[in-house]
Amino acid sequence: MARFVGSTLVLATHNAGKVAELKDLLSPYSVSVQSAADLGLAEPAETETSFVGNARIKAFSAAYATGLPALADDSGITVDGLNGAPGVYTADWAESPDGRDFSLAMARTWQALEVCNAPFPRTAQFRCTLVLAYPDGNHQAFEGVMPGQIVWPGRGGQGHGYDPIFKPDGFDITFGEMDRWAKNRISHRGKAFDLLIKECFT
Ligand code: IMP
Repeated sequence: MARFVGSTLVLATHNAGKVAELKDLLSPYSVSVQSAADLGLAEPAETETSFVGNARIKAFSAAYATGLPALADDSGITVDGLNGAPGVYTADWAESPDGRDFSLAMARTWQALEVCNAPFPRTAQFRCTLVLAYPDGNHQAFEGVMPGQIVWPGRGGQGHGYDPIFKPDGFDITFGEMDRWAKNRISHRGKAFDLLIKECFT
């Protein structure tokens, strides 16, 4: 099965930043989108150790709960000087007693690089796996990678998550300094999305 079948797609994420990016990316296509948060869906535990495994969990949880096709994104940042950490635990590094705090996550990342005296440039990759799952059990997966480096201090107030400390290769500004349309054109999510669109929506 390649082409998308249906007129409504559930975005299987509760992350407002990801919902905004995915809605922008899907806006040229004639599909109506609803987020898991809009539908009041529960957030499943992400118990796998790979991006694709966790994206499958989220996509199938939403597809089975709604009877509609669902698109999930599992993403994160892999830092070479930290042997690929935080990787699938990228969101967990933001946990604090008061909820998720990405300033703390970015500081933890930089501190970990300082502690192991990681060489410069401090290369890293943003990674994204998209899974489109159907309530009949079929699914398709698409992967995108954006290489760059970690910079400190963070710069820019746009975007979400670790955007202020990630400078994509080929640019002098961070994702946090880039408007979201420009970011979508080059990002890990944009690249995975291009593959999804080519196979399923065109
Ligand atoms: P999950 O995919 O919901 O498990 O979380 C992935 C985490 O990776 C997010 O909470 C963000 O912190 C981070 N992340 C993923 N993509 C981006 C991005 O495009 N910019 C900044 N942070 C990101």
